Amino acid sequence: MKKNYSKNISLRCVTCGSDSDFESNDDKTYIVCKKCNREYLGGYSELVELNEGLINDEVMKTKKELAQDMQKEITERLKNAFKGNKYIHIK
Ligand SMILES: [Zn+2]
Repeated sequence: MKKNYSKNISLRCVTCGSDSDFESNDDKTYIVCKKCNREYLGGYSELVELNEGLINDEVMKTKKELAQDMQKEITERLKNAFKGNKYIHIK
């Protein structure tokens, strides 16, 4: 399969939903959202934990996408396998 299924999930501020206004200290043990001033005293790991639902959603979506693509590919392969076969005709 040629498609790339890796996803870039951006963490969001649980208070205002912004994903681009974070400011953190050097070792990411403290993060603050500059948009709404929400502080994450647990730092990066707290933010990941709070975003777990979002991350799970994305994983589920990717799984579905993968299943659909596989179905498509199998159908195509079956069609190709029978193409040019004089004895089997798919109507
Ligand atoms: Zn915020």
